[in-house]
Amino acid sequence: MRIAIVADIHANLTALDTVLRHAGVVDAVWSLGDSVGYGPQPGQCIARLRELGALMVAGNHERAATGAISTEDFNPDAAAAAQWTKARLTLEERAFLDSLPEVALEGEFTLVHGTLRDPIWEYLYSYEAAIGHLALQETPFGLFGHTHVPTLVVEDEHLPRGCELLRLQDGEKVDLGGRGGKLVVNPGSVGQPRDGDRRSSYALYDSQENAITLHRAEYEIGATQKLMEEARLPGWLIKRLAEGR
Ligand code: ZN
Repeated sequence: MRIAIVADIHANLTALDTVLRHAGVVDAVWSLGDSVGYGPQPGQCIARLRELGALMVAGNHERAATGAISTEDFNPDAAAAAQWTKARLTLEERAFLDSLPEVALEGEFTLVHGTLRDPIWEYLYSYEAAIGHLALQETPFGLFGHTHVPTLVVEDEHLPRGCELLRLQDGEKVDLGGRGGKLVVNPGSVGQPRDGDRRSSYALYDSQENAITLHRAEYEIGATQKLMEEARLPGWLIKRLAEGR
């Protein structure tokens, strides 16, 4: 079985479709939250994921787009984009987003946007957050998004900090077999990468190989930027796509 693992699509349909083509034939798509927000095509991205029967969890941007949480804690650009998104979603789309869980369990995997300690909000950047998350993860493998940075967390009780936090590079393969500790993977962001590499980021799980491989795919950034300009979305959100940050 091959499963495409995507996160932080952020209403960037050009990026999402590029990643889906790049992944080839898959048996399932798992989406780790923030399918909308920032980008110009929220409804189309939701439709694509539903068409594919994707397993989805909610992120802070799904919640903000429906008004389920306030945008008080968002930066001004993110808040403006959330309001823009909210105005464009149909009632049915909003109800669909509101129906998404914050945590999903699928076989040996736990899916969450932030961390299990705070599924919608907490960034898994630090060892402290990683350990807090791992303590609550009951499956051997976890998948998260939110930071927009492809990351691997390896639990190892012999290490002073209890785990290792590593950046994942294009083509890097994470072997899931023969480990004592748990693993947590962030596939990076499809629609708004922030690790200095503007290419879309996603991961492929191959059950035959028992491995997860990180992939980067070049997409037509200009096409998304043009739609954002037409929509008058905030300038920095348009610019940052080309900078990958
Ligand atoms: Zn995000």
